[in-house]
Amino acid sequence: MLREENSSRELVWNEGQNVEGWGCSECAWVFNPSGPRADESLDEMKRTFKTQLSAEFDSHACAEHPRVKDAAPWKRRVG
Ligand SMILES: [Zn+2]
Repeated sequence: MLREENSSRELVWNEGQNVEGWGCSECAWVFNPSGPRADESLDEMKRTFKTQLSAEFDSHACAEHPRVKDAAPWKRRVG
């Protein structure tokens, strides 16, 4: 059986100045939901959101989203 390296990671709710949403407890990954479809009901939307959230969370690699001390990635300046 394969051992999952990041089995201790879990979904955490992030609230900050520039970001609010679900993220990973072990890295800088945050969930970016795609916009709701116009033909979706509220119930379908919730279901889609949950499915999407857990699927995205399961498939992300913590190593690809390193945490930066003192500077969240969304605050980092480019160039
Ligand atoms: Zn992660």
